[in-house]
Amino acid sequence: MTPPAEQKPPRAERLGAVRQVRPATEGWSQKKDAEGRPLLQFASPKRGKPPVHLADLNPEERTARLKELGLPGFRAKQLETHYFTHYTSDPTLMTDLPAAGREELVAGLLPPLLTEVRRLETDRGDTIKFLWKLHDGALVESVLMRYPGRITLCVSSQAGCGMNCPFCATGQAGLTRNMSAAEIVDQIVRANRLIAEGGLGGKKRDDHSADRVSNIVFMGMGEPLANYARVMQAVRVMTDKQHGLGMSARGITVSTVGLVPAIKKLAAEQIPVTFALSLHAPDDTLRDELIPVNSRWKVDEALDAARAYFDATGRRVSIEYALIKDMNDHGWRADLLAEKLNARGRGWVHVNPIPLNPTPGSIWTASERDVTNEFVRRLNAAGVPTTLRDTRGKEIDGACGQLATTEDDERAAEAMPVA
Ligand code: SF4
Repeated sequence: MTPPAEQKPPRAERLGAVRQVRPATEGWSQKKDAEGRPLLQFASPKRGKPPVHLADLNPEERTARLKELGLPGFRAKQLETHYFTHYTSDPTLMTDLPAAGREELVAGLLPPLLTEVRRLETDRGDTIKFLWKLHDGALVESVLMRYPGRITLCVSSQAGCGMNCPFCATGQAGLTRNMSAAEIVDQIVRANRLIAEGGLGGKKRDDHSADRVSNIVFMGMGEPLANYARVMQAVRVMTDKQHGLGMSARGITVSTVGLVPAIKKLAAEQIPVTFALSLHAPDDTLRDELIPVNSRWKVDEALDAARAYFDATGRRVSIEYALIKDMNDHGWRADLLAEKLNARGRGWVHVNPIPLNPTPGSIWTASERDVTNEFVRRLNAAGVPTTLRDTRGKEIDGACGQLATTEDDERAAEAMPVA
């Protein structure tokens, strides 16, 4: 179907009668490229690679690695059970492995990857933010949240981020490096260990769900599709029932600011993860400034790729839309968004407007409640299913786009030995 042509803002807007706040950084300046556009970093800077871990390898590679170490291949299964089922990398607990050479075996296949620097709790212990230090001192975060019937972990996929969005704390320092598949997976294993030890808030009496992470959102640090191969290896390990964590692909949400070629690749993977497009504006004029990668792939291209994801997988796509006062929350933008989504068919998409934190004095502040309600109303009235998203974790700066290490975190990390 042909998408509608780029719509001009209504006349009142053009005459300045409607307030339009333009995106701008506060307290930091965006790095620019030679043409003066916000710099986009797709390639990871070269840094020492993290040690290779079981979760970086597929089952055949694991067996081959053991054979290289002069050990029988079936030891791989034993290590998988310790790590993916019992969440341990501690050789003293692996009494089914021969004592002789056990430490070397574990050091070779389950090397330590994440050192916990800090843990912050809120929501009476139902939400926990972890700050991790990687082998080279890079810092990343994950946020664990208990909801009735499910436990969600928001994971990081890169240290820093190269997408340079002007509202985002993570993007300010640029991309430090891609995380390895095992560094991504280890965030889940560590969270599962904590849950198994009873460290995550109180479970309600009538909640009979399993006590482990059931849902993953790739909305921590980094743009997951800019680290495509490692993120996909991590997803394969998460969903592998025999050799991995055995999670449901539907419970895994991969979100992107719109790297169109990678969205197409994801659609061809035959792994039906939930796909989320962080759109935040339906018009290129605003989105070019709000999400710099829009200068590469425009709104219509990103929406076409999202629709193609639905066609390939049958999985309904989520459109993420942070509502920012007087910047992107205008009624005409809700109408334009609905028009663009409906032009690509019905029943394939769901919009999640995300209320921001009220930040007095900042241009990046929450939309008024009636404006938010009107935005949601217009989309629903146009037949686009729309629900305001829960923004748990805001209190500890764990909501999306808010994960960034502080100087204080860095000082705490310096005092810790590296994993
Ligand atoms: S909003 Fe997402 S893509 Fe943009 S800089 Fe932040 S982490 Fe990167």
